[in-house]
Amino acid sequence: MHIRTRFAPSPTGFIHLGNLRSALYPWAFARHNKGDFILRIEDTDLERSSQEAVDVIIEGMAWLGLDLDEGPIYQMQRIDRYREVVKQMLDSGLAYPCYMSEEELNKLRDQQMASKEKPRYNGLWRPEPGKTLPPVPEGVSPVIRFKNPIGGSVIWNDAVKGQIEISNDELDDLVIARPDGTPTYNFCVVIDDMDMNITHVIRGDDHVNNTPRQINIMRALGGSPPVYAHLPTVLNDAGEKMSKRNGAMSVRDYQRAGYLPDAILNYLARLGWSHGDAEVFTKEQFVNWFDLESLGRSPAQHNPEKLLWLNHQYIQNSDPVKLAAATKPFAHEMGMDTEAGPDFVQVVSLLKDRANTLIEIAEGAKLFYLPAPNLTADQIKENIAEAVMPALKDLVEAISTAEPTKEAYAAVFKQILAKYQIKMPALAMPVRYALFATTQTPAIDSVLVVLGKDEAVKRLSKVVQ
Ligand code: GLU
Repeated sequence: MHIRTRFAPSPTGFIHLGNLRSALYPWAFARHNKGDFILRIEDTDLERSSQEAVDVIIEGMAWLGLDLDEGPIYQMQRIDRYREVVKQMLDSGLAYPCYMSEEELNKLRDQQMASKEKPRYNGLWRPEPGKTLPPVPEGVSPVIRFKNPIGGSVIWNDAVKGQIEISNDELDDLVIARPDGTPTYNFCVVIDDMDMNITHVIRGDDHVNNTPRQINIMRALGGSPPVYAHLPTVLNDAGEKMSKRNGAMSVRDYQRAGYLPDAILNYLARLGWSHGDAEVFTKEQFVNWFDLESLGRSPAQHNPEKLLWLNHQYIQNSDPVKLAAATKPFAHEMGMDTEAGPDFVQVVSLLKDRANTLIEIAEGAKLFYLPAPNLTADQIKENIAEAVMPALKDLVEAISTAEPTKEAYAAVFKQILAKYQIKMPALAMPVRYALFATTQTPAIDSVLVVLGKDEAVKRLSKVVQ
């Protein structure tokens, strides 16, 4: 079988990480099986759909590297196709017009509720052999309903939830087209899944209730239902449904906060799927390992600390050249000219082991790209003890003749510390202050290498004069 999966988002608002997980799994399943992955935009809800939301989805997927084989396919561009199938279904007796008005429906519902029945359409306009239908009211445009099978049940073997059985008695005749002829959501999904030869529908479990209806329509049209895998929800760190209101961040927000796409992908992969106890893995490993059997059955919970930890792992293990390229835009946004100063790749290499995000790297890089501090005499007096001046003086001299390497600078420090019988912080802190007007920097010998000998000596000399 040639595997074909799809991600079918409705671009109706905020797209959070949990939403994108519904793209990641079908993508991984398609890639694992050398199949196809399709993006379908379910935009028939004109009032709630927006181009902005479509852009966020497409950009987010591209950023994570979820490449498409087909699409984006917009449902709004397939309206003629849906209308065509509605017509075929009317012609072949699979569907029928229903003239029951909104008021009549409401009345029916009230009666059913009053007698403790489940509200459902009563089949008034459903044609049956030997049945006389009510006279067609004048000037009323009907809805079109699907003739749901009567009796029996719909059974499917959900790849996540196991066997599910829903009695047909629970399902009334679904409206597939509105009075103005526009097709309804559940109907479009079926036509698309059939036309696109989708073999595996991997989606959120908020769609479990739609599945028996979709299967019935599909079977009536002569199709065979795909495999369904309904994913449990993603809860936020407080255990609530994820939403913008309670602080969920969009993919764009994570991008702006300095997360790496591979870290997000790794994180999302583990949000409802596992492979033994593997926590950090490459995209290739993920694709190799991905299967539907290992999808979790209970809701996954978003854990921001774990995501930050993973981001740190990815940053630490990144190739410095690539990491520098990814960090540059952040540095530029902070006003740094990364061309005017030390080699940016070297700066990033120095900072990456301690950073959780690209923003943190860029923050750290300020040391090397902001102008040299212009220390006043008072500042020097306050921050550099008079007693350490002789040692500092010797240090500047020794540095100016040392090899410009970490090892050589470390040796210089060692020698001065021994000579003056002082400890490292007593010397390193004043050096840091003299260089940057701060005492927070990475290891001082490495900092000297990256800053460059001439610049370091120039800054230190200003203090020791
Ligand atoms: N458009 C639906 C949603 O965004 C998904 C439909 C489906 O995957 O079948 O929830």
